[in-house]
Amino acid sequence: MNDTAPVLSVVIPVYNEEAVLPALFERLYPALDALERPYEVLFVNDGSRDRSVAMLREQYQRRPAQTRVILLQVNFGQHAAILAGFERSRGRYVVTLDADLQNPPEEVAKLLAKLEEGHDYVGTWRANRQDLWWRRAASKIVNAIRERATPIKMADHGCMLRGYGRQVIDTINATRENVTFIPALASIYASNPVEIQVKHDERVAGTSKYSLYRLIRLSFDLMTGFSTVPLQLFSLVGLVLSGLSGALVLYMLVRRVIVGPEVDGVFTLFAIVFFLLAITLFGIGLLGEYIGRIYVQVRQRPRYIIGAVLEQAPPPARPE
Ligand code: UDP
Ligand code: MG
Repeated sequence: MNDTAPVLSVVIPVYNEEAVLPALFERLYPALDALERPYEVLFVNDGSRDRSVAMLREQYQRRPAQTRVILLQVNFGQHAAILAGFERSRGRYVVTLDADLQNPPEEVAKLLAKLEEGHDYVGTWRANRQDLWWRRAASKIVNAIRERATPIKMADHGCMLRGYGRQVIDTINATRENVTFIPALASIYASNPVEIQVKHDERVAGTSKYSLYRLIRLSFDLMTGFSTVPLQLFSLVGLVLSGLSGALVLYMLVRRVIVGPEVDGVFTLFAIVFFLLAITLFGIGLLGEYIGRIYVQVRQRPRYIIGAVLEQAPPPARPE
């Protein structure tokens, strides 16, 4: 075993985080030094347009032995950025965390302990999650749907402070899916997973990089990327509704014969038609989600494009 090869890789996606980076550097490195294991921090700049890149460069100069910086060309999204970090990571274990200090770096010790016990995936849920009430409420709903509609079972898929073993990382790297949700993917590949509770803080500075729209997109990616249950559920709904509307037609026919022509209830009928129309539109949209995924996948565009990498030469390969 080569002494200089890192035991731990910490992957951190960074998108316009100039407000938090100084605080992150100040807390992250002491927390990792305290682990007393060789480590590397992989910052993946996800196309920031603020001073983040300059600040990452400075940090690289301060701690070149433990710091690597991957600069992506434009904004590819948090999960693509993490993938870029995974593909370049050298550690036996990999931990991801957010740049905004919502995931306390001191908690990495807990994850590392679990990884060293032999777990190849350390999932987490957030104690006293510090986010806006509507985010917490929305997460509850999405977590509940995900638990039922996909094969992924976890307490809290939104917490990005997670640990991964080398084999899980290699399998994720070999997966050629264009759009994905890393914790869910890893949970499928893990053979000895465990879940632990971790602390959660408020964002120390700056604002969330997720708009409502991007949050909804992410949830769709999670559902359609890991399950076809929504599609199947839809055919089921279609089946039940055709049964019901068939019965309604019969009933109307009988009435036509017995009572004769009538306009009563025309608005009720409108309501029913609109309702069915809405369901049809939803179905088309849902189909579109899956077709969109196929389309993105078929194009085979790169998941991210690396502009530059700041790093020292890799240590000599580990003897097997
Ligand atoms: N992030 C990223 N690319 C994006 C959006 C976010 O790399 O397109 C990073 C961001 O810099 C942070 C992490 O992903 O390190 C989580 O983002 P944020 O804290 O804004 O999300 P929230 O905590 O509000 O869910
Ligand atoms: Mg955050």
